[in-house]
Amino acid sequence: MPLPIVLKAKLMASAMAGWTAAAAPIPVPAEAVATLVAGHSAGPVAVDLYDENDHQKGEVAIWRDGSTDSDTADQLRLLFRCRRTHREATISQATLAMLADVADQYQGKTIEYVSAYRVGREESATSPHRRASAIDFRIRGVQLRTIRDHLWRTYTGVGVGWYPEGQYIHIDSRPQLHDTSWTFLHGNNRYNPYWAELARRIEVPDQVAVHQRPPS
Ligand SMILES: [Zn+2]
Repeated sequence: MPLPIVLKAKLMASAMAGWTAAAAPIPVPAEAVATLVAGHSAGPVAVDLYDENDHQKGEVAIWRDGSTDSDTADQLRLLFRCRRTHREATISQATLAMLADVADQYQGKTIEYVSAYRVGREESATSPHRRASAIDFRIRGVQLRTIRDHLWRTYTGVGVGWYPEGQYIHIDSRPQLHDTSWTFLHGNNRYNPYWAELARRIEVPDQVAVHQRPPS
C-alpha cells in the first residue's frame, strides 16, 4: 500500500525528530526528510545486524525488494538460523524487504534481532517463524511504536506484533493470509489492538488541513 508522500514525510519527520535529538545536534529540515523518503535508495541497503542471543554481528546488503546476492543469502541463513536445532533456512523475501526498509530509514543504526527462523519441537505448526518468514527485532534508540506503525501502515500481507515487555517487534510476511496485528502483554496476544487501527486510519483531508491557517 503506497503512501501519499506528505503523510510519509510527516511520519518520518516525527521519527527523525527523536533520532536527531539523540544523535545529531542539527535538526533535519522537513524538506530534506521529504526528499529522502521520495527517492528510493539507488543500491542495496546496508543492514547492520546484531544477534541478541549469540552476540554475533553481521553486515549485509539487501535490496529494497528483499533480494540479495548469493553470498549474502548464505550469510543470512547462518545469522537467522534456528537456535534450538541449528537448522538454516532462507527468510522470505517480503520479510527481508521490510527489514531493508527499516534499515534504510535508520541508516547507521544496528538492528538487534531476538529471533528469526525457529523450527524446534515447541514451535507451533502455524508459526511464521517455522515458515522462515518472521523476524523479531529492535533498534536501540528508536521507539518500537514508530517502527511498528510504519510497517503496519505501509505493508499488506503481513503480521506485525508488538512486545512491549520483551522490547521487540515481530514482523512476518503472510501473502496468503489476512493481515494480523497484535500486542503481546501478560502472556497473551491481544489481536487488532488500538495502535493498528490508528496507524491505518489515514484521513488525507484532515492531515492537509493542519497546514492551512484559519481565516483571521
Ligand atoms: Zn516473532
